Amino acid sequence: MNEPTEKQCSSCRQTKPLDEFYSAATGKYGRKSICKTCTLDKQRGTSKVQRSGPPPVDLKAIRNAAGMSLWDMARALGMTARSGDVNVSQIEKRKDWKLSSLLNYFRAAGAEAELVVTVRGKTLRFNLLGVDT
Ligand SMILES: [Zn+2]
Repeated sequence: MNEPTEKQCSSCRQTKPLDEFYSAATGKYGRKSICKTCTLDKQRGTSKVQRSGPPPVDLKAIRNAAGMSLWDMARALGMTARSGDVNVSQIEKRKDWKLSSLLNYFRAAGAEAELVVTVRGKTLRFNLLGVDT
């Protein structure tokens, strides 16, 4: 019996030579079930999702409202390195912060922050800066 030289991609349904599939120890014929093209498409797809849309909290808007430059914010956050303003713009572009980083940022801007949670029609408010981090 001959070793198969091609298989069908379970994503695009095309039959392709085996070297069009990344190797995988657990896959059929030692290859992944989807072809390289589809694998790359999927990776690109997920990174696009992660990149799209603005961050949930617009830190830049908070900083602008406080009348602070990137460097002002960097100093307020205790960053002394020359790259402080770069670090601040990275924080602003993030989409998932540690609560403590977010709160430090709010404090540095002199902001007040409240978390409003609505559950079953009940609205609960939490003073975030009252939280001891
Ligand atoms: Zn494919």
